[in-house]
Amino acid sequence: MPYVSRWIDGIETGLPAGKVICIGRNYAAHAKELNNPIPSEPILFLKPKTALVDFEQPIILPQGQGACHHEAEISVLISQRAHKIAPQIVPEIIGGYGVGLDLTLRDLQSRLKEKGHPWEVAKSFDGACPMSTFINSVEINAPSTLGVILEVNGAVRQKGNVEQMLYSINEQIAYMSGFFTLEPGDIVMTGTPAGVAALNSGDRLTLSLYHEGRSELVTQTSIA
Ligand code: ZN
Repeated sequence: MPYVSRWIDGIETGLPAGKVICIGRNYAAHAKELNNPIPSEPILFLKPKTALVDFEQPIILPQGQGACHHEAEISVLISQRAHKIAPQIVPEIIGGYGVGLDLTLRDLQSRLKEKGHPWEVAKSFDGACPMSTFINSVEINAPSTLGVILEVNGAVRQKGNVEQMLYSINEQIAYMSGFFTLEPGDIVMTGTPAGVAALNSGDRLTLSLYHEGRSELVTQTSIA
């Protein structure tokens, strides 16, 4: 079934599924764990809407492509069209906040990176973007306190918050809007904290969005 974005109560947002715009290496500790330098400007890439799937459906990993890593990320649902906007305007175009996985075929990505080739196929395949529901931005009084936690089989694997980002949510979305017009229904993934690792069949995942020190949204799935 094609992906449809929903609010946390299950009601459809009414926004069409769109592109997903992602930022790479937005947490220094994650850049370091993969032996990547800290970028001097944001590293952007896209996932098509065919990468989006409902987080709570069992995740089907591509077969025969080596390790598939989880990258847990705070996600932002765009509610208005925007082109070349300033960071201080960004809050006006944010419809909601959620959490998602930027699934990454790490072995394939490493091989492509070594050759200097684009690594699209490692990040943008069908189902590469399991996405939670969204909390309406009017409910988020303090976006500066947002954080994400991923547990795999009951153990915390990834934990990060917006204070640790190299480029804030407002800065990165403003930068993105200079290259890609943002449209209602597009989703921005804001980078992953350290702790990425391979997923395996049978793993159980719990992904949470934190706000003001509390877990506001919890979503669960398993690896098929
Ligand atoms: Zn990522």
